[in-house]
Amino acid sequence: MHRKDFVKTLALASLSGAVVKVHALDQLATLMEHTEKMPALFLGHGNPMNAIEENEFVQGFRKVGKAITKPKAIICISAHWETKGTLVTAMPAPKTIHDFGGFPQALFDVQYPAPGDPELAKKVQQQIHSTTVGLDHDWGLDHGAWTVIMHMYPNADVPVIQLSLDYTKPPKYHFELAKELAALREKGVLIVGSGNLIHNLGLVAWNKMKEDNYAYDWAIEANEKIHKHLLDGDFQQLINYKSLGKSLELAAPTPEHFLPLLYILALKDKNDKLSIFNDKYVAGSLSMTSVKIG
Ligand code: ZN
Repeated sequence: MHRKDFVKTLALASLSGAVVKVHALDQLATLMEHTEKMPALFLGHGNPMNAIEENEFVQGFRKVGKAITKPKAIICISAHWETKGTLVTAMPAPKTIHDFGGFPQALFDVQYPAPGDPELAKKVQQQIHSTTVGLDHDWGLDHGAWTVIMHMYPNADVPVIQLSLDYTKPPKYHFELAKELAALREKGVLIVGSGNLIHNLGLVAWNKMKEDNYAYDWAIEANEKIHKHLLDGDFQQLINYKSLGKSLELAAPTPEHFLPLLYILALKDKNDKLSIFNDKYVAGSLSMTSVKIG
């Protein structure tokens, strides 16, 4: 074979290789049916007792659950699953994890037997290119996930998987990673971030637990700043929340309850509306503020 022909054959061979790859990707994409675009939610989960108590916050979760199309599956990014590296739960039947102490037995008795979705876990793994996502078979559903999702889907008939928070990474990393999940919104997947935008357990006013909407001044200031940036669509400011001053330092002394918000904001496209609900303070240094995109 002349060199020129050889090169041509090589080019054709690699081209057909590429065609095969594209075809395989196509098949993967059609494994999941196209649907109308699902919203994305950040839910302030607050006290685990919300699982068994009746209050305006759980009514808010129920209301948003009823207002949106029932999803085919849920991906939950919970403040309560931090790992080194990013993992996605891939078991068919995730256990209900009671990851708290000092609560009544009735809370430990709650089970939320939603199935997992190993196929979706693999899909998430394929969808994310910025890092290698590991398949996890040990975790389950922590209280950041089940205490809120159980109010939206009390029959536990929507599969739920969790995506972990890599505690070694900065806020921007989480925002960029989340963008890679955007296509799943059009596959019937509801993406839920679960945390609390104001979450300072060291400063909780325990004697004000039952007082409606009680907040410290710094908590009000932090909430107002967060609202402004949310409503202005200036998410860069929220990615850089650590540089927003003392009030944000107090509101988010550790990142894990704030970061799930960034996963949801990253999914917003220009046609999506942003709305805020359950926007109340609890015991001075906590907020239940929740955000719906789309
Ligand atoms: Zn929490």
